[in-house]
Amino acid sequence: MDAEIIAVGSELLTPYRLDTNSLFLTAELNRSGFRVRRKHVVGDHDEDLRQVFRGALERVELVISSGGLGPTQDDLTRETVSDLLGRKLKLNETILRGIQERFRSFGRTMPDVNGRQAMVPEGAEPLENTRGTAPGLWIEQNGKVVVLLPGPTSELQAMFVREVKPRLARRGGNLRLYTRDLRITGLPESEVDQRVSPIYKQYPGAETTILSAPGEIQLHPRVWSDDKAAATKLLDELVERFRMALGENLFSTSGEALETVVAGELQEHRATIAVAESCTGGMLAARLTNVPGSSSYFRGGVVSYSNDLKSAWVDVPKELIEAKGAVSAEVALAMAHGIRQQTNATLGVGVTGIAGPGGGTPEKPVGLVHIAVVNEKSAKERTFRFPGDRDRIRHQATQAALDMVRRYFPYAAKAKG
Ligand code: AMP
Ligand code: MG
Repeated sequence: MDAEIIAVGSELLTPYRLDTNSLFLTAELNRSGFRVRRKHVVGDHDEDLRQVFRGALERVELVISSGGLGPTQDDLTRETVSDLLGRKLKLNETILRGIQERFRSFGRTMPDVNGRQAMVPEGAEPLENTRGTAPGLWIEQNGKVVVLLPGPTSELQAMFVREVKPRLARRGGNLRLYTRDLRITGLPESEVDQRVSPIYKQYPGAETTILSAPGEIQLHPRVWSDDKAAATKLLDELVERFRMALGENLFSTSGEALETVVAGELQEHRATIAVAESCTGGMLAARLTNVPGSSSYFRGGVVSYSNDLKSAWVDVPKELIEAKGAVSAEVALAMAHGIRQQTNATLGVGVTGIAGPGGGTPEKPVGLVHIAVVNEKSAKERTFRFPGDRDRIRHQATQAALDMVRRYFPYAAKAKG
């Protein structure tokens, strides 16, 4: 069955607030067997609200909104939707007493304006709000359902789970969305698409979307089905063919972050790691320690930003920096060796580069980053030219460093599922 989501609130049409409730609602609706066909963001304006609700009700079985149920004059959703559906609003004494009681429990008396929140359209079912004052509303009309939920995220989520989900379960039909989350690094989006599109075109039953994020491409095959076993089989087969096409660039088939996969490799191989960072300023260490249990593999790291501290802290020879420059393959390698020796880690990582926007030269442009990963016996260095602004360059540098660590281990090609 099909649904549309309406995010109501004039603040959502400013540069300061983003509609995130619809992301939660979409995930939940998919689990309940509803396919979201459209999402709308609309301000608190009577006529705009009418048009959006009217249009949605012409198209789909379920219309679900967030916001505009507050006590103040600018919140119009309750009034506008009841009027649109031709229903009168009536005061619900039980809800009114509940709201008064809620205020009393905080040692306050209910302001008169909150009385509006006890108004319920004829024939509608109020949905209890355990986290705030505004009840939600469930309204059935000509076989269709309109659900009005409050805007504050914690209220909306709690109400959805307690009140809406069980009601939807009785209506959603048997179709469910099955999906996988593949993560790829080391290939541009166009190259990923070239490799995988001949495959997914052979599976019209699945819809595959490609998303690009800095330093990472995501591949999401999705199947709507009323047969869990068949959907799982189809997705397994598809993922297996993607895996063959993508090789070791595929690092997860279950949406794991790269640092999580790297953590798994380090733990599995009982290896430890230490990092010496320049242009990433500690971001690599931060990502490595994002993962719970990181003390089992992360020895430590330094941000050796200035030339003298590259020498003092991780033993990069002063003459090397003078001869090759602080941003050079040789210095990255020396930083990696230096931090490994200082910390007794299995692996040492060195990162040095030019994050910009200033400081670039024709020989060493902004975006140039050298990354080295070394162990006791071997050393690997790679030179990158990352596009984008300072943030993106620094993030991509951490991504590339993590990826080099991941690929350091044998059998890395087997993406963890
Ligand atoms: P309302 O129910 O319209 O009074 O909404 C109250 C508050 O909830 C707003 O000020 C926002 O902070 C938050 N909110 C409303 N709609 C959304 C949305 N679609 N996504 C995230 N937060 C929202
Ligand atoms: Mg609002």
